[in-house]
Amino acid sequence: MDLHTKTMTELSAGLERGDYTSVELTQSLLDRIAAHNDTLNALLTVTGEQAIAAAARADADRAAGKAGALNGLPIIHKDIFCTRDVRTTCGSKMLDNFISPYDATIVERLADAGAVVLGKANMDEFAMGSSNETSYFGPVNNPWDLERTPGGSSGGSAAAVAARFAPGATATDTGGSIRQPAALTGTVGIKPTYGRVSRYGMIAFASSLDQAGVITRSAEDAARLLGVMAGFDERDSTCIDEPVPDYVAALGDSVKGLKIGIVRQHFDEGLDADCGARVKDAIAVIESLGATAVEVDMPNIDYSVPTYYVVAPAECSSNLSRFDGVRFGHRAENAEDLFDLYCRSRGEGFGDEVKRRIMTGTYVLSAGYYDAYYLKAQQVRHLIADDFKKAFEKVDLIAGPTTPTPAFKLGDKVDDPITMYLNDIYTIGANLGGFPAMSVPCGFVNDLPVGLQLVGHHFDESALLRCAHAYQQATDWHIACPEDFA
Ligand code: GLN
Repeated sequence: MDLHTKTMTELSAGLERGDYTSVELTQSLLDRIAAHNDTLNALLTVTGEQAIAAAARADADRAAGKAGALNGLPIIHKDIFCTRDVRTTCGSKMLDNFISPYDATIVERLADAGAVVLGKANMDEFAMGSSNETSYFGPVNNPWDLERTPGGSSGGSAAAVAARFAPGATATDTGGSIRQPAALTGTVGIKPTYGRVSRYGMIAFASSLDQAGVITRSAEDAARLLGVMAGFDERDSTCIDEPVPDYVAALGDSVKGLKIGIVRQHFDEGLDADCGARVKDAIAVIESLGATAVEVDMPNIDYSVPTYYVVAPAECSSNLSRFDGVRFGHRAENAEDLFDLYCRSRGEGFGDEVKRRIMTGTYVLSAGYYDAYYLKAQQVRHLIADDFKKAFEKVDLIAGPTTPTPAFKLGDKVDDPITMYLNDIYTIGANLGGFPAMSVPCGFVNDLPVGLQLVGHHFDESALLRCAHAYQQATDWHIACPEDFA
């Protein structure tokens, strides 16, 4: 029945009509995962039995006239979200055997809406990386070219959606980890406004930057999933009590009259010429639908990577101090004393990139360096956010490239952290300012997908989704499927 090719919106209609049951749909996707996951390494845990049981409950709910918004629809969770009864590794040896005593808020909300969880997706260790190569469980391969990265840190979520394991997956974005893998795998990724979605039960990397979002194949599906996840949660003190609009209803609005800002600095050197051309073509399509493009200047945007690589490690060094071998996570054997226990548990449990970040973070927060690095970075962070705010006085959203190049080869950048960090040059600004941002497939370069990034004003996810939806109605890049996974 080719159910794997369908979007959530199509599947929801099929379930409603009774063309198939959620148990049948779930089983067909579990079969695909069983056949292909070894090739991709996209999922770390497959929850087959629980999924079939949840699908049966969804079918029963529907029969009883109690179908929730996502009744019977299969999804995958990034393994950064705590799930009761199913292990949560965060891509780390530190949490190899960790079973959370509670569900993350978004896990709970999606389950309450009737979604069926097929498994948990591979990711860079503690979400630190741009290629999925820092995962303790090995890299994920890009379904478009198995020798290339699917991006990171949500590489497993993106590869799973691109390979049609599920129509949607949850993901997180601290500096680009939803948008960059979405761009590199030809999928749609949206990171909402900071504070829009609860971080309760989402393992913290850099708390002032982390946001949960989704990866799907259509903007419409992203609107459906996000609508269920978003909204105030009293268990997260940074979650904002702001009404959530009906994202799906907002898709119908036209893009006529929408003002799109083009950041001059985004098209400077560093951007692959072919990627730049695809992005410009995409902007021309959006203009042909009635939007107007305006050039905007962001004088401080070039400082976003260095600013991020002070702020994010500082916060991670504090957040990761909880992994001490005492309360949970990996514990070294035969410790001589408490100090030895701390040192060896952390030394054995964390990988190189995580250690590099903890050391950088500890350094920039130490007395004598705090003012020179951390404080300075916080000041520049405000300047960058102000650049966006000024732009949003003139435009409704900003459009540009998501990444400087298409997917690179696994192994190519792993020994050169600075080159790896530069991959996030276009995505980090939105995190520093807390703005919602999205990536939409906009073509191919050498048979590899390229993404168009859209950034919106605070709490205006609707403008992004509406623009992306209109673009997808006019183009079919998002329908293209990697050959081996058709
Ligand atoms: N690639 C960036 C980093 O390594 C962003 C990661 C993320 O968004 N989680 O920190």
